[in-house]
Amino acid sequence: MVLAHLTWEEVDALDRETVVLIPTGSLEQHGPHLPMFTDSLLVTAVAEEIERRLPSKVLLVPTVWLGASAHHMAFAGSLTASMTGYGDVLKQIVTGLSKHRFRKFFVLNGHGGNDSLNDIALRELKETFASSVLAHKGYHEFAEATIAQVLEGPSKRIQHSCEAEVSLMMHLHPDKVRKEKLIDDGLIPEPAISSLVLTFDEVTDRGALGYATLATAEKGKAIFESAVSGAITELEAIHAGFVLRGQ
Ligand SMILES: [Zn+2]
Repeated sequence: MVLAHLTWEEVDALDRETVVLIPTGSLEQHGPHLPMFTDSLLVTAVAEEIERRLPSKVLLVPTVWLGASAHHMAFAGSLTASMTGYGDVLKQIVTGLSKHRFRKFFVLNGHGGNDSLNDIALRELKETFASSVLAHKGYHEFAEATIAQVLEGPSKRIQHSCEAEVSLMMHLHPDKVRKEKLIDDGLIPEPAISSLVLTFDEVTDRGALGYATLATAEKGKAIFESAVSGAITELEAIHAGFVLRGQ
């Protein structure tokens, strides 16, 4: 089910074992070859496909598109929520639906900058909603093995506007990829001091990280399918109530 398309009576009639699916994205620069909304478009596509395949087990909430992107603000057009503002919105969505007696929540993330904030928000919510099931994970984490397998460049993990992200966009939104602008970027060696907090203008020339020139729609299709099927396995387990080992 899609929350935005339901009436209140239809929501009221839903089974409260339904898992509320909350995608989180961003609106931030993605180098010269991908649009600002890349993370939000990708995580929304994964979440919508999950809902299409599990319509009676998932309640899809509109994507939280304003992410924590302060590390991209040197590039024109990028927008960011404050760290606390971002967490507050997420907590209000969970709190609101908890008032409507939902108790299973899965935050599906599409932007690295949100990851630790999703974790903090859910840990704070767990103090209030102790018996609720609260989970979060990046869509790409479900596809890690596939990503490592299909990528041809030296980097075998998803980065930013990289071989993996551009491949996903070629599969899902080919019209939005500036093919003539594809570049490999951010290939400078890891910093000597590995604990540094860095912004993207410090580690890239044009805002991207990785080997975008090697991207193909076929790789994107494989990564997408892997992300969707991995997330579905986890969501079905949460729906069924198998949360703790041995239960
Ligand atoms: Zn991205």
